[in-house]
Amino acid sequence: SQQAPASNIQQVVDRAYNHYKTITDGSNASYISYLAKANTKLYGIAVVTTDGKIFEAGDAEHLFPVESIAKVFTLAHVLKVQGAKTVQNKIGVNATGLPFNSALAIELNNDKLTGSPPPGNPLVNAGAIATASLVDGKSLEEKWNMLLKEASAFAGHSLMLNKDVYDSEMADNQHNLAIAVLLKSYKSLYADPTETIDLYTRECSYDVTAKDLAVMGATLANGGTNPLTHQAVTDAETSARVLAVMATAGLYNTSGEWLYNVGLPAKSGVGGGIVAVVPGKMAIAVYSSPLDAAGNSVRGQLAIQSIAQDLGVNIFKIQ
Ligand code: GLN
Repeated sequence: SQQAPASNIQQVVDRAYNHYKTITDGSNASYISYLAKANTKLYGIAVVTTDGKIFEAGDAEHLFPVESIAKVFTLAHVLKVQGAKTVQNKIGVNATGLPFNSALAIELNNDKLTGSPPPGNPLVNAGAIATASLVDGKSLEEKWNMLLKEASAFAGHSLMLNKDVYDSEMADNQHNLAIAVLLKSYKSLYADPTETIDLYTRECSYDVTAKDLAVMGATLANGGTNPLTHQAVTDAETSARVLAVMATAGLYNTSGEWLYNVGLPAKSGVGGGIVAVVPGKMAIAVYSSPLDAAGNSVRGQLAIQSIAQDLGVNIFKIQ
């Protein structure tokens, strides 16, 4: 499969950037005080191809909190260390169809109404918290250093914790802590709840740019080898499983609509980032903080859909 010519990709990125520049729909995440204050005007797009070309528009190098998109790279780490069966049996890989922070999914799964283990899926909070509890390490610091190192390898340079985001989330973390304790009561959390929530909150609190997200996604598109540093961060088997889970739950309760309309595995975060992956070809990432009701960047979704359509990269459509 051929890449589109470089001049064409830049044109398509510029077109999407300009087309949605004036959109003001959606609103910042309000339940995390740091995110509530984000500048809603910032808007950046980055595309990175599996042959290492970078295309940008707008604020593609502005740092913002990764939030839920980190779940993807923690999943990649746990899949590699613990294996695919463990993730399927201890966390689950079915779509929950419920909002990202739902505790209801835990109850439904525990009552065996869904056929999934209680956490449900590694890309919603309950499952991501269970995934964090499966990270190996002798101490919280060691586990955190491992996750940050892995995410940094995906990005191709050292990512950093944003202490203000971390503090802001730790101060308002009652809901996630309740999820962790509920999971523990069903024996579906595999470490101490308080320590696990600390680890989970750290992973949500490192900063990235749209360009970083595009490099991280392009590493998955490239079978686990970073197209810029050429480091084998993970393998093709792990990348394929991560992308499958992104397709089922990457945009929470609107994942089905996203796949139906765009045809690409993707992941969003309440920080306003979103990244979509075209296996074998590229990743497309956007930053814009205003979110829709499900917690997905409004302009991010529009811009990615437009770029994917213009480049003809729906994975279900024969070109
Ligand atoms: N840290 C956020 C939370 O746990 C991440 C959620 C998200 O990005 N959807 O609530």
